Amino acid sequence: MFLQKDEAFQLLADFGSPLYVYSEGILRERCGELLEAFEGRIKPSFSAKANSNLHLLRIIREEGIGADAVSPGEIFILERAGFESGEIFYICNNASEEELRFAIDRDILVSVDSLSQLETFGRINRGGSVALRINPGVGAGHCDKVVTAGCGTKFGIDPACCGEAKKIIAKYELKLIGINQHIGSLFLDAGPYVKAAGILLSIVLKHFPGLDFVDFGGGFGVPYKEGERRLDFGALRDGLFPLMDSFVERYDNKYVHFKCEPGRYIAAECGLLLGTVNAVKESFGKRYVGTDLGFNVLMRRVLYNSYHEARLLRRGAAVQRSAVLADVVGDICESGDVIAESRPVGDARKGDVIAVENAGAYGYSMASNYNSRMRPAEVLMTQRGEFKLIRAADTLESLLANF
Ligand SMILES: *Cc1c(COP(=O)(O)O)cnc(C)c1O
Repeated sequence: MFLQKDEAFQLLADFGSPLYVYSEGILRERCGELLEAFEGRIKPSFSAKANSNLHLLRIIREEGIGADAVSPGEIFILERAGFESGEIFYICNNASEEELRFAIDRDILVSVDSLSQLETFGRINRGGSVALRINPGVGAGHCDKVVTAGCGTKFGIDPACCGEAKKIIAKYELKLIGINQHIGSLFLDAGPYVKAAGILLSIVLKHFPGLDFVDFGGGFGVPYKEGERRLDFGALRDGLFPLMDSFVERYDNKYVHFKCEPGRYIAAECGLLLGTVNAVKESFGKRYVGTDLGFNVLMRRVLYNSYHEARLLRRGAAVQRSAVLADVVGDICESGDVIAESRPVGDARKGDVIAVENAGAYGYSMASNYNSRMRPAEVLMTQRGEFKLIRAADTLESLLANF
């Protein structure tokens, strides 16, 4: 945990509970690590859906990382954060004509992921540049819901349709400048990513000469459980670089470049979610630690059965791991509203704080007003150790803003 215990209590007193806190230092470190990991040979673009806080996006841009958007809303925020059109890649899925136009009007490159979308794109932007998302037939991820390639997922173009895609490209005189894929989210083993990259490169060699770039996608995992090993970038390099070398040797455009699309890897570990214990109870032999950390604040466990370390903090005294296990639950009226299951926090007391680690990715960005609850504030711990409010909490008034 990057915060001191006293700082955590002070922040909750200053900004309210629950609260997202981010470490600028860790965010910059992760950006730098990714840039170095691929030795400049695979250029990372941040997948903004993992965390679209304006201030964090600005930091990521300062570090020299581009951005991927999945909606006009993300494009809009990325522009506000200072990203130029050439730095944004719109990877859309089942977008409307209007949404495609939003990107086209801004000169933002679009990746389409079906023949049907390619047709729409060509019709409204004859002669334009475009990228295609391919489904390489291999997926990876921590849960079925985030495996985004292979059979049975809605994403990407079946390689069997490459011929058809080329016909549509010719019909509308489109310039195909890139091929991308994204096989899924949160893998800690390099194997499937390397395998999928190899498949993609062979598809490109066979069907798509003259590209500017090939994009292998994101999905790089972080260790959520204590003791879990980190993703080995050495193994990724050792797998990917030889594939890229032999690809370039055989490919017509020797200046082709390579990209990847990390979201979680950049944002997850810099984020901490703090909440307050409001009640404790024992019911039918089970202990519950009742907090304000409902799944409107962090929904990853409810959605994917994800694991986050949850630390118990007490003012003054240190707390030991309890022999009694308890479920840390939220304040949402659904029984699935459990943020951490069977943890050694059984002797939690009212007023204690729960710190949920690695909450920087798919945390706030998935937060909602369900149960008419307010989304929390977000605070940045700067590199100088100061705390800065980077998004205010919702207010009762904001719940009525659209009426
Ligand atoms: C969500 C997404 C990513 C990022 O995935 P992470 O697991 O956060 O790295 C990359 N590419 C696309 C197309 C995505 O939709």
